[in-house]
Amino acid sequence: MTAALPTVELPCAVCGRDDADPVWATPDRAFAVPGVYAVVRCRGCGFLYQRPRVRDEHLSACYPDHYPRHQEPSPRVPFKGSAARQRAVRWALARGLGYHALRDDHVSILTRLRARRMLRRLRWSCPPWIGSGRYLDVGCGSGAALAVAKALGWRIAGIEMDAAAAAIARRFTDEVHVGDVLTAPFARARFDVVTAFHVLEHVPDPVAVARRMLDWLAPGGLLIIEVPNAGGLGAMLFGGAWAGLELPRHLSHFTPETLELVLRKAGGRIVWTWHQAKPRSYLWSLSALMRDRGWPALAHLSESRPIYGVLKLGLEVSLPLARLARRGEAIRVGVVGNRRM
Ligand SMILES: [Zn+2]
Repeated sequence: MTAALPTVELPCAVCGRDDADPVWATPDRAFAVPGVYAVVRCRGCGFLYQRPRVRDEHLSACYPDHYPRHQEPSPRVPFKGSAARQRAVRWALARGLGYHALRDDHVSILTRLRARRMLRRLRWSCPPWIGSGRYLDVGCGSGAALAVAKALGWRIAGIEMDAAAAAIARRFTDEVHVGDVLTAPFARARFDVVTAFHVLEHVPDPVAVARRMLDWLAPGGLLIIEVPNAGGLGAMLFGGAWAGLELPRHLSHFTPETLELVLRKAGGRIVWTWHQAKPRSYLWSLSALMRDRGWPALAHLSESRPIYGVLKLGLEVSLPLARLARRGEAIRVGVVGNRRM
């Protein structure tokens, strides 16, 4: 085993307090970056964060070349399938998500019913239409979310730290800033929707990044943030084996309460919260837990196709309960700025 990445002892990035209690310590299970990394809970505000944490200048070493967000994008563009399906998609977008330009009053009852069923899934992949359709995706990776927004008619821009990923994202727009969120050159109040999917947990200063993203919102604009939920069922059941820990890449581990705290400090207000629970992440955590306990044979068995299928089916039946109990694996929030310009 090679040496761990160089780290630094820093106080809580949310309230500034220096005293904290240890919670979890794990190696990198997903990409085998060397070392063991720890998570602590701030005694002041309850924020969970990596401490000691990888030094800024070594953060890029946490991301191997095969990191998924840097691979070929697989955008979930909604306009595909039969003509009848696409009619239903357009109806759902027009009626449920504000895409009035797609409105068509001459659709059948059956199409409308189909659209209603589709809407729940579409809400996760399509931003609501706001203002004049200016969209920024922060941490855009190779551009999957940008491709979807472009297909929906948005004028798009992105920010990405990884140059190779940004080069792929340029297929969809020339406006991809390579580098840090805090130094990205976009003007204030320039966008109607800003999204950051699984970004905030990776940055050293989540309050500053959230503040910057809120600054980019035009009046009436919406910031959409998604992060793993350290207050969810998975973290509770699996602890250090929880898939959402992703050490050392995740520097912060938000619960609904601490995410709210961060966004409030940044000058924002949460207007809605959704919980997501997907079987795959629970199954990943389960096999990591069994390996931790020294049961590799059992872990291997749970990954075999028939057993995995049965477990997945069981979870698909029970996970809506996790969503209902607001204990999902990931939380997505809609945020508006408090300051009016
Ligand atoms: Zn704190």
